[in-house]
Amino acid sequence: MGITYEISVPSSRKEEMIDITGQIRELVKRSGIRDGICVVHAMHTTAGILVNENYDPSLKEDMLDFLSGISKGKWRHDLEDNNASAHLKSLIVGQSQSIPIKSGNLMLGTWQGICIAEFDGPKLRKVSVSIV
Ligand code: ZN
Repeated sequence: MGITYEISVPSSRKEEMIDITGQIRELVKRSGIRDGICVVHAMHTTAGILVNENYDPSLKEDMLDFLSGISKGKWRHDLEDNNASAHLKSLIVGQSQSIPIKSGNLMLGTWQGICIAEFDGPKLRKVSVSIV
């Protein structure tokens, strides 16, 4: 038994890391599930979900710069849609993260937070949150 929620997250820039840890914690509480797994999944091909440090805001910019550096290139999809690097960044970050739940709390480390990574915004992004 479990429950799946869907949340909408608006992005306001072309590229952005948006912390959604608070919203995910609320859903875990609402689910009433005390011990299990929370799967956070971005329903998109040019966005991703990551778990990393959410304290120093400059790190978010570093992560975006890092991904821009390794996704530079001459890509076929740019002739079609002009957003190949956004797809490649999404490929690297991945669409889902699984976080264990113990005693009703997400088992995140002190510096860990859950972010949706926007690579082709601004858009309204859908994130599914399954708690089982
Ligand atoms: Zn595309």
